[in-house]
Amino acid sequence: MLVRRSPSARARRSTIRGAICAATRTLDPVPSDATRPDTTLVRRARKINRVLAETYPDAGCELDFRTPFELLIATVLSAQTTDRRVNAITPALFAAYPDARAMAAADRAALEELIRPTGFFRAKTESLLRLSADLVERYDGEVPGRLKDLVTLHGVGRKTANVVLGNAFDVPGITVDTHFARLVRRFQWVPDEIVKDPVKTEHAVGAIFPSKDWTMLSHRLIWHGRRCCHAKKPACGACPVAHWCPSYGTGPIDPAEAAALITTQGPA
Ligand code: SF4
Repeated sequence: MLVRRSPSARARRSTIRGAICAATRTLDPVPSDATRPDTTLVRRARKINRVLAETYPDAGCELDFRTPFELLIATVLSAQTTDRRVNAITPALFAAYPDARAMAAADRAALEELIRPTGFFRAKTESLLRLSADLVERYDGEVPGRLKDLVTLHGVGRKTANVVLGNAFDVPGITVDTHFARLVRRFQWVPDEIVKDPVKTEHAVGAIFPSKDWTMLSHRLIWHGRRCCHAKKPACGACPVAHWCPSYGTGPIDPAEAAALITTQGPA
């Protein structure tokens, strides 16, 4: 479990909620052609979600942040690296550039040096500078609280937007990252041809669960993917949802061998 800089997740959410009370809380509607999942699938999927909730009661965003701006920047930086590595550099980064105006005016070389440990630092520096400039020019330096606005910002796609909405604005969102997509495929919640498309996956999974569950469902699947249902060798023999998983046996089923694969701490 990582130590967060803020006093508690609840206090942090409360603080942020107060700061963004004017944010509009709307989501893209689920497309009208989304097929309604069958009852058996819905029951099985919701059972898995309940068991994962019991297994990972502390599941949540593993990026440290205090404001929507910090979460947006941290999420952009988390591409192709670990949350742990991002958390290691963000205290110094946000001390130097605490908001969009400061970051938009940053010296490129100094910014590159600060974020270098996260990899792809030149491309990421370009994203941070242009993203911050977008915020200053179009949103008075504030992070907008709507998906349709967030995805117009430089370098911000639906995945990043949903992370920010779900964790900084309490707007339900499904984050389809590599772990989420892999687990959805292994659980067979959506057909194979859909799981290749993150937007279709988002809508198909959204049809299985009530919107109030979307953000925490995303965290739980990502946590389970990082700790147990690994890409190369899932720990099937020690998996708490093995009973409901059609892919049981993809990894070792011997309890001792599987238990050795479980990662108990920290992000992957
Ligand atoms: S049973 Fe295996 S494949 Fe299924 S969720 Fe658990 S670890 Fe992953």
